[in-house]
Order: sequence, then structure tokens, then C-alpha cells
Amino acid sequence: MSDTADKPIEPPWAQTSGVRITSVRAILTAPAGTTLVVVRVDTSEPGLYGLGCATFTQRAAAVATAVDDYLAPQLIGRDPADITDIASTLHVSGYWRSGPVLNNALSGVDMALWDIKGKQAGLPVWQLLGGRCRTAVPVYAHAQGRDAEEVADEVRDLMSQGYRYVRCQVAVPGAGTYGAPAAAAPAGSRPPLTPNAWDPAAYRRTVRELFGHLRQELGAEVELIHDVHERVHPTDAVRLAKDLEPYDLFYLEDPVAPEDIEWLRTLRSRSVTPIAIGELFTNPAEYRPVVQERLCDFIRVHISAIGGITPAWRLANACELFGVRTAWHGPGDVSPVGHAANLALDLACPNFGIQEQHLFGSAAQEVFPGCPEIRDGHLWPSTAPGLGIDLDERLALKHPPQFPAPGRAWRPPRRADGALQRP
Ligand code: MG
Repeated sequence: MSDTADKPIEPPWAQTSGVRITSVRAILTAPAGTTLVVVRVDTSEPGLYGLGCATFTQRAAAVATAVDDYLAPQLIGRDPADITDIASTLHVSGYWRSGPVLNNALSGVDMALWDIKGKQAGLPVWQLLGGRCRTAVPVYAHAQGRDAEEVADEVRDLMSQGYRYVRCQVAVPGAGTYGAPAAAAPAGSRPPLTPNAWDPAAYRRTVRELFGHLRQELGAEVELIHDVHERVHPTDAVRLAKDLEPYDLFYLEDPVAPEDIEWLRTLRSRSVTPIAIGELFTNPAEYRPVVQERLCDFIRVHISAIGGITPAWRLANACELFGVRTAWHGPGDVSPVGHAANLALDLACPNFGIQEQHLFGSAAQEVFPGCPEIRDGHLWPSTAPGLGIDLDERLALKHPPQFPAPGRAWRPPRRADGALQRP
């Protein structure tokens, strides 16, 4: 038996607020070249609407279809107040569930409903979550370079701006690596079979040397992070975590792929380097073994990819019981609305760990008035009701996304023999 009628999902209780959802639609804009997907939920109350981030930039049109053609018809006519019921109902409304396309669509709706609830209450979303438990939110910045000296110079510059946490990525000679520019091959080396081939052994050696250099040059004050980006074999990830122990990392990110998380048990038994994982998880349940067995120290949730504020808040609360802290994913392909949601959760989570920053340029700041403010290495809270951010649709239209989006598909590197290397 199935009931797939395309009609509003009416709850069995009386909806008495009088406010109803009148429109739900995806808005695509690319003020910085990256396609951002934002969901706008309008209501029957004049001027009352909410915004949510649904950005899955590599599959943006698919998310927009999920929002406009599948979620909107189920939402129009509902009271926007019932966030939990709406989120749970939509989650199972396709029967097959989870995955980044559907979860991002759900996230756009979920965040927009929190935004509406805050505006109705006249309170920022972090107040609805129990109020703030920190003055401001420490963020980490990115430093990268072709060699260790260049990275050290960038870290020094960031420290002078007030940053205490920095992610450091360095090129593998003869190739780039994730988060670092390409660097020339060592002089006199033979041309590889595959141009710009990425070599796991050279990567491990280069990263170990990088952090040795950084600690020697910068001392112990700065907190250092490195993102493996699931790029090595699990055995090499274990070796890297052990190699980096003397350099006292704040955390090592994504040492293994989601498909290899069982290897974290081996890694944890061999190394005390703290671990962050999870930006690729698209179902909160994927965190269960990792958190329950304390296989990681930080959850790197991409909040829109797991369905929005509601599942992220519940997950963070569960993690607190296990001593696991948050480190929400904060790249440029999370819209400023998504960064505002990260900030709301950061302010309210007692088990907050750190927040990844993204500095939006002037075009994005114009399209999204109220972009979260970053200064002195911290994100500062907005006291505006809801998520505290808006979208100027007239300006958004001036930055239409291009399809197919150039350069937005991952181009995984190749190893020396030409074989594919995971991103
Ligand atoms: Mg990462």
C-alpha cells in the first residue's frame, strides 16, 4: 500500500495560529561564481518569510526540482510553526530517503521555518535554542602554500589578524594537493607517466615536514588543523596520524573516507591525534558508531547535507553525552544563509569545538544583506530576529548560475600509473 497523493501534509491536530505557508521555492544565484541554492518560504502573514540554505552546488538544479516540484505542494497550506513534524514528515514523504539532494532540499525548508519562527518571536534563532553560551565564535582560517615556508608566512599573517586556529595545506612537489596550489617537481626528476600525478608517499612525507616546520617557526600558541580529504589508503592515514603526534594538532580531518570508518578503530588505538570527520555524511545515523565508540573528537557536519538545523541540533546534543564536539563544515559552497545557521548553532551548543570560516566577497554580501560578521578571528552574533540574514532577489538575478556549472564537478587527481585517486 502506498499513498503518494500530492497534497499538503495535514497533521491530525488543529492548526490554530492562522498563519499558513503560501509559497515555497528555490532561488539559485552565483555571486561568487559558485552556485548557491536558497529556499524561500512565504506565509499568509504580510512580510513574514524565511530563508534556508539548500546548496549542493554540484547538483544544484536537482535540489531546486526537489524543492519546487516535490516539497512545495506538500507544504502550501500548513502552519509553519510545526517544524519538527514537517521535517519528519517530509523526510519520509518520498519513501526512499536521505542523500545529499533530498537532504539539501529539506534543509532549505527546515532553516526557513526556523527563520520564520524567530521572526514571529522577535528573537534570533540562537535564542530559540536555549540562548548563547559564548560571547563570540572562534573560527579557523585556511593557510596554503607551495612549500612549508609559504604556509608559515600565511599562518603568521593570519595570527597577526587575530586568528588562533588555522588549517594548513601544502603542495606535494610536482603536484598540488587538496587545498594547496600546484608546486614544481624537484629539479632533475624524471617526467612522470601521468602529468601532475599525486603520490601518497610524497604527500605523507611533505605533510609531516610541514608541521615540523610550523611548530619550529611558530611555537605552540597557534592551533593547527590539517585536512586529509580522505585522500590516502587507511593504513597511510593511521601512519600519518602517528607521524603528526609530536606536532600537537587541534585535529586531523577526514583521515578516512565514509566507506572506511571501521579503520578509525585501528587509528584510535595507535594514535592520540584528535580526529574530525563527517562532512560527507548525509544521514545523522552515520555518526552513530563513530560517536558511540568515540572514534572521533569533532563532527564535521555539512548542515544542509543532513537536513538542516533540526537534525544538526539533535545530533550535537547527542554528541555532548560522548564528549564529542562540533566543527560544522563552512566552505564557500555553503550559502551565507547556511553560515548564519552554523553561527546560530555555534552560539547555542555547549559542546561547540570550532567553526570553519568563509570570507564572502562584496558581491555576495550585497546579495545577502546581514552576512555574518567576522573580525579578530571570531564570528559575531547578530541580534536580528530569525537567522538575521536576507536575500536581495533583484541582485541575485544579476548573478545567474551557469549550467552545466564550469569547474564545479570534482576532478579527482590521478596517481603515477594513471589510476584515479579519491578527491
Ligand atoms: Mg574537509
